[in-house]
Amino acid sequence: MIQRLHIRIHGLVQGVGFRPFVHHLAGSLRLKGYVLNDPQGVEIEVEGPAEALAQFRLRLPKEKPALASIQGLESAYLDAKGYAGFEIRPSGQVGERSAQVLPDIATCPDCLAEILDPKDRHYRYPFTNCTHCGPRYSIILALPYDRAATTLAGFPLCPDCRHEYEDPGNRRFHAQPTACPACGPQLALWDGAGQVLAAKDDALRLAGQMLCEGRIVAVKGVGGFHLMADARNKEAIARLREVKRREEKPFALLFPSLGSIRGQCRVDEEEARLLVSPEAPIVLLERRPDAAAPLPEGLAPQNPLLGCMLPSNPLHHLLAADLGFPLVATSGNLSDEPICIDEREALERLAGLAELFLVHDRPIARHGDDSISRVLLGRGQVLRRARGYAPLAIPLPLPGLKGVALARGGHLKNSLALRRGPLVFISQHIGDLDTPQALAAHQRVALDLPRLLGATPQAEAHDLHPDYASTRVARESGLPCCAVQHHHAHIAACMADNGLDGEVLGLAWDGTGFGPDGTVWGGEFLACGYAGYRRVAHLRQFRLPGGDAAARDPRRSLLGCLHALRGGEVLQRYGGLKALAGFSAPERVLLVQMLDKGLNAPLTSSMGRLFDAAAALAGFERVMRHEGQAAMALEALLRQPARAKGYAFPLIEAAGLPLVADWGPCLEAMAAEAAQGLDPSLRAERFHSGLAGLAVAVAQKAGLSRVCLSGGCFQNRRLLQAVVEALERAGFRAYWHQRVPCNDGGISLGQAAVQAALAGEA
Ligand code: ZN
Ligand code: ZN
Ligand code: FE
Repeated sequence: MIQRLHIRIHGLVQGVGFRPFVHHLAGSLRLKGYVLNDPQGVEIEVEGPAEALAQFRLRLPKEKPALASIQGLESAYLDAKGYAGFEIRPSGQVGERSAQVLPDIATCPDCLAEILDPKDRHYRYPFTNCTHCGPRYSIILALPYDRAATTLAGFPLCPDCRHEYEDPGNRRFHAQPTACPACGPQLALWDGAGQVLAAKDDALRLAGQMLCEGRIVAVKGVGGFHLMADARNKEAIARLREVKRREEKPFALLFPSLGSIRGQCRVDEEEARLLVSPEAPIVLLERRPDAAAPLPEGLAPQNPLLGCMLPSNPLHHLLAADLGFPLVATSGNLSDEPICIDEREALERLAGLAELFLVHDRPIARHGDDSISRVLLGRGQVLRRARGYAPLAIPLPLPGLKGVALARGGHLKNSLALRRGPLVFISQHIGDLDTPQALAAHQRVALDLPRLLGATPQAEAHDLHPDYASTRVARESGLPCCAVQHHHAHIAACMADNGLDGEVLGLAWDGTGFGPDGTVWGGEFLACGYAGYRRVAHLRQFRLPGGDAAARDPRRSLLGCLHALRGGEVLQRYGGLKALAGFSAPERVLLVQMLDKGLNAPLTSSMGRLFDAAAALAGFERVMRHEGQAAMALEALLRQPARAKGYAFPLIEAAGLPLVADWGPCLEAMAAEAAQGLDPSLRAERFHSGLAGLAVAVAQKAGLSRVCLSGGCFQNRRLLQAVVEALERAGFRAYWHQRVPCNDGGISLGQAAVQAALAGEA
């Protein structure tokens, strides 16, 4: 099938022979489309078979003209337009270059060579950068982008740096954050009381030595602090888990080289491209079972994936090169609080977490976590959008949009989005808005993003949930507000991510979202456009005994489902299940009472909770330590490739009501197979295939040819694969996320799109 690949490149790509190079590369792969210079960089669209498009994207950064520097490359697969040939189009005039805020860019090869060259004046200098690389979003205080308006304002340039800065032929011509050991920021190593143990390069070397000795070091980077430890050291990892109160959630790793990652994980071409890209995200990779020197299980317990990244700034490069082994590099925070950015604050907030603090005196203007990506079905998908991507915009495919609006996002994995005309600028990841610190960070970004982009919101969009903190602050803004249903926002985000307009069938499968009927939605099939939606089908409802407690305990979801099937008889029929064995007799009675009376047992159609119930029947028989853990365990049970016939999910029809997808036969079969002690991986397979069958059955009823997949459940690679394959086999076109997360990190984009469509500005 012919597809279109849309690519946005920013960097030094004008006047260096870049467009003729693109023309040539496209020609050699027989791709059609265009290349165009605009004030933001270069826009490319190419059409052809998927394999040729993938090759094009891989070869672009590898074979670019020597003088070109790619500082960011974001791409998305879209529907083909039917270009007749390949052309170099006249330059676009839209947008002003001065009004552009770039993301932070990973260290370029030239700067890397300098910091490793004993003869260069930047040798071992951790704040080296140039016009091709270095901090941007994390240091900009105001526009226009000028040194005086960055956090380097307090560091006057030395004569050598000034010379480079003023020389039009130099790589550092007008490099605003440029610095060197003579004039720029410096490192220091502090103990827990803020006493200086060492300064400058000695601080770096001593920190490395401490890491070798198994100590936990808080390291101030580009967008905030990391907690680092030797990833090979079981005892250090255990201590880090204990102090961070993070019992089982996987830790991200910083590797010294691509080769060292390949020693632990399988890395395909697209994954390698992402790892070494200017965005340098954490990439979720499959562990190699045959690794020669496997890293400890405790880094990511019972998880087949490892989150791996390469150094993205000179400090990380120097640390990684000095040590030569992988480091744990987890955000410097207590679980789920925003990442810490200030060294004085770090001493307080990270007291008891880190033993030592490697700090510096370059202030961080705004926080930025590491971004997280995963390659799904041959395409990268951003799962956490932050460093390297924020605050880049995604265009809405709606003509003639005007005005400015702020979208507040959801409650979990919160991000905000500012729409200026047709462009939606998405903030960095903020986190779950459960703590006062997180809400304060949300409010900071809500003021910062409009100020930085020079656009004052005239309206706000927020979640339909009346009690979300993000809803409350939107309502307190005094601006006209647009409430957007959570799953409508998910599908609108997926549509925008794929450049779609018109009506689609949206499968919004996640843990929780407020439904207009007051129940908890989450297994939704919506006939959807930007301006509205109709609920075509939903999962059969069940009760969650204990509400939030059930969201953490898959066995409670299971009991709720079984109670929906058997009512008060549930224990007589299913009390013997191993999955329920962990509940004491009084607990069972209490839970069943809650379910019988419907007290503190909200009704839900949540797919996430159905996954939990299924995971409990496949052996996950305990409380979860982090979100999505049970579903990930279920996915990990799957063998490649899944062939088993899926469980039946009959559709129940009633006049005037949405279809109801009945999971009853599925769970009854799973419970019977569990009782017989059959292979749990077979249950996992049949569950995933059954849901793929359900997707097709609803799509056939809905009669819409395009199906958008969104919601946190689609972070599950095997589910995404099964649903996409089944839909396409049945003649539907499936779309999933690429540039924004399918989880709640993408909600702000969806809200912005819905607000735009409803505001009547189109
Ligand atoms: Zn550079
Ligand atoms: Zn200097
Ligand atoms: Fe959601």
